[in-house]
Amino acid sequence: MILPKLMQAVVYRGVSNLQVELLPVPKIGRSEVLVRVAACGVCPTDIKKIQHGILLGPRIYGHETSGRIVKVGSSVTGWKEGQRVGLHHHVPCLKCHACRHRAYAQCDQYKQTGITAGFEPAGGGYAEYVRVMKHCLPGMVPIPKNGTFAEGAMLEPVNTVLKAIRRLELQPRDHVLVAGQGPIGLIFTRLFKLYGMKVHATDLMEWRRQKALQMGAASAHDPTSPEFESQIQELTRGRGVDAAVIAVDSDEAVRQAQKLCRGGGQVCLFAHTRRGVLSSLDFSIPCVDEKQLLGSYSTDITLQNEVARLVFSKSLDVGELITHRFPLEQTGEAVNLAAKPTQNALKVMVIQEEAEALRNEKS
Ligand SMILES: [Zn+2]
Ligand SMILES: [Zn+2]
Repeated sequence: MILPKLMQAVVYRGVSNLQVELLPVPKIGRSEVLVRVAACGVCPTDIKKIQHGILLGPRIYGHETSGRIVKVGSSVTGWKEGQRVGLHHHVPCLKCHACRHRAYAQCDQYKQTGITAGFEPAGGGYAEYVRVMKHCLPGMVPIPKNGTFAEGAMLEPVNTVLKAIRRLELQPRDHVLVAGQGPIGLIFTRLFKLYGMKVHATDLMEWRRQKALQMGAASAHDPTSPEFESQIQELTRGRGVDAAVIAVDSDEAVRQAQKLCRGGGQVCLFAHTRRGVLSSLDFSIPCVDEKQLLGSYSTDITLQNEVARLVFSKSLDVGELITHRFPLEQTGEAVNLAAKPTQNALKVMVIQEEAEALRNEKS
C-alpha cells in the first residue's frame, strides 16, 4: 500500500487550544502496526486534559479509536493489511506484581500509552494515522464483518464499564444505583440490566432519564427531587441499594449514594479522575456500616472477548448512544459539545471514514 507522507492531525497546543496541523505520517518499527483511523470517540478524560491543561503539549489525544491496518511491521505475526480493528492504548504486561493482583491499571507498562500519531504518545485518535507500539498489539481487537467502526471505537469505554461491574459483589436481582446517565452511565445501566440487576438511574436531565428507561433501568429519578431518597427506600423494600456507581463527577452524588446503599454494600467511583480535589467523608460509614468505597479506572485486557461479544452481538447496542458525528477538522467542536452536552447529545464521535462507517451501520 502506498502511503502519503503527510497527514492531518489535531494537535493539543495548550489549555483548550486544538490546532489542525499537517504532520508526517508516523513511521513504524518492525514490531509495530500502522492504522488508518476511521472513528474515535470523545472521552471525558481527554476533555479534562484539554480543558484543564493537565499535561503539557504538544500532544495528539483521542484514545477510543478504530480503523484499518495499512502497514504491518516485518516481525509482527497474526495481523494483516486491510483488517479492521478496535484499539486499546493501554495494555498491561500480565507478569508484574500489580498484574498478578489484577491491578492492571497500576502496571508500569500499562501506564505507558502505546498508541501515537506523533509527539509524546497520548492516543493519537484525532489524526489520520496512528502507530500501534509492540506492547499494545495484544489490545487490537478485530472488527467482525457485521461490526462497524463506531462499535470498534466503543470497545475501550465499554471495557472500562465492565471492569467496574466485575469489581462489585452483586447477585442477580440485586438493586444498583447508577448516578449519571451520560454515555458511560447508560452503558452501566444496560450492562447491569443484561446481567440481571435492577437499575435505579439518576440524572438531572429528563431526556437522559428517559433514555435510561429505554436502555433497561427499572426506575429513573431526578436526584435533587425531595422524594428521591424515599422512593429508593420504597423500591428496595427499605433495604437500600446493594451497590452504586458514580458516573458523574459530583461529590454530592457520592454522599447520597452512601446514604442509599445498604450496610455492607459498595459505592464505586468512576468519574472522579481529577487529582487534588478534597471532600469530607464520615469514616464510620465504611467502618461501622461496612459500606465499601472503591474506585475503578480504565480497562482490563482479560475482559476483551466478553466486551467484543457484548458490542458486536449488539446486546449492548452502542449505536443508540452515538448522537453526534464530526469530521476530523472539527474535533474542537466535538470536544466542546461533549464537554457541555446540549439536550440530546450523548456520545460524540470524530468520524473519518464516514461513508464506510455509515454503510456498515446500515448493513
Ligand atoms: Zn476513554
Ligand atoms: Zn504488569
